[in-house]
Amino acid sequence: MNGPAHQFAGTVAAMLTTQFDSEKNCTALHHPAAAAPIGAFLGKLPDMLEPSFRNPNHRQFFHSVAVLGFLGVGMHKLYRWHPQDDSKKLLRALLLIGGAAYLSHLALDAMTSRSLPLLGKI
Ligand SMILES: [Zn+2]
Repeated sequence: MNGPAHQFAGTVAAMLTTQFDSEKNCTALHHPAAAAPIGAFLGKLPDMLEPSFRNPNHRQFFHSVAVLGFLGVGMHKLYRWHPQDDSKKLLRALLLIGGAAYLSHLALDAMTSRSLPLLGKI
């Protein structure tokens, strides 16, 4: 997958996350003008951590099924977390939006012929 595809998927994932989050957890980051750029940026994070430039086997730990699993569990816990103060609400929103964008990257890469390594190298 190329960069623009991951940015687009990250943006869509971020927007969907904000739309399906509950009203009482709403923050400034739930606004599309905030969520979209966060999603676009973090949708490329795995390839920033493990650049594909001239390396067909660049998908290692940060592209792995293990990270996908950890992230899935973490996102579930985050989703169920309902902090009261505003700074924690912002942190929750940032991690949820960013996590969704990161997951969109792994989902797209998983559908390619090289797929994802189970664990990969760090
Ligand atoms: Zn990738």
